Amino acid sequence: MEKRDYYEVLGVSKTASDAEIKSAFRRLAKKYHPDVSKEPDAAEKFKEAQEAYAVLSDASKRQQYDQYGHAAFQGGPGGAGGFDFSGFDFSDIFGDLFGGGFGGFGFGGGTSSSRARKGSDSLIRMNLTFEEAVFGTKKTINLDVVEDCRECSGKGGHGEKACPTCHGSGQVTTEQRTIFGSFMSKSTCPNCKGNGKSYDTVCSSCKGTGKKKKNTDIEVTIPAGVDTGNQLRLAGKGNAGSNGGPNGDVYIEFNVKSHPIFEREEDDIYLELPITIAEAVLGAKKDVPTLYGTVKLTISEGAMTGDKYRLKGKGVEHVRSSRKGDMYVIIKVITPKKLSRDQKKLFEQLKKTDLESGNEFKKIKEYL
Ligand SMILES: [Zn+2]
Ligand SMILES: [Zn+2]
Repeated sequence: MEKRDYYEVLGVSKTASDAEIKSAFRRLAKKYHPDVSKEPDAAEKFKEAQEAYAVLSDASKRQQYDQYGHAAFQGGPGGAGGFDFSGFDFSDIFGDLFGGGFGGFGFGGGTSSSRARKGSDSLIRMNLTFEEAVFGTKKTINLDVVEDCRECSGKGGHGEKACPTCHGSGQVTTEQRTIFGSFMSKSTCPNCKGNGKSYDTVCSSCKGTGKKKKNTDIEVTIPAGVDTGNQLRLAGKGNAGSNGGPNGDVYIEFNVKSHPIFEREEDDIYLELPITIAEAVLGAKKDVPTLYGTVKLTISEGAMTGDKYRLKGKGVEHVRSSRKGDMYVIIKVITPKKLSRDQKKLFEQLKKTDLESGNEFKKIKEYL
């Protein structure tokens, strides 16, 4: 099934404000929440709306989505339907929708330190040649990511048992005596840091942290049409989460080198084409290099510097739509600085003839 556009899912325009996006999502959440909705496909609809909201309510994710569409979040767990919003906090929405009782559907819950947390994101800057950016490419990036220790499966120790300090609850109750009397207060267990577990032996491989740094190669497919400043998100390729939380993401930011003759402006390509003075006067057929091979361009008689020819569809493929931009050929008439004796003679003959046609000459003469 084709993935629907996030704006379409929420029923808002591409220029919708944050407030409009939020209220659209609230409306849908009320309608499709599986606890309240009787519609047969409510769960699907609810999930779709959640995903759209998680992206569009986050300024940087929204920007990426506007640039790349769903491709911005490629590589997520489970492929197409695998968008991951487990690091996303819906509580401010659901809090006021359902009176704060949102623990029932799997966000939040538990004490803060034993709660599943998403791993941190990494940003990598990548240089691309002009051609790599235009046509797309495959690259291997090498980075250090923190992953769960293999020896202890991320637990940090062997021989799991309930923490003796808090008896597995993750919390300890302490009595505080003040001049007003004594109070009982609860706090996170200092021995197990709130997860309620203890181990017979500390894992020697990770020294009890449960995490290890690993140098890893990731093969990345860079879509055609990326440009300097664009970011690509590799979902779930970043650092491991904690307490069963998902991995962070890797972001790649591109820097595209300039080309010796092609100038790129978004999806359009500009080329300055030098022609001789004779070609300018008489017109010419010129070979013009493009991104897709040489084409013949017919220059009409009386060409001037700055004349612009459009080669439709010879620009860069748009990173989202595969629609191609155009190429513009800008004429530059080159006046020769060195002439042979014969050439000079020809120009001198020409000079004797009347070449002053056109309004430009007339206009000046009015002021002479
Ligand atoms: Zn404990
Ligand atoms: Zn370990």
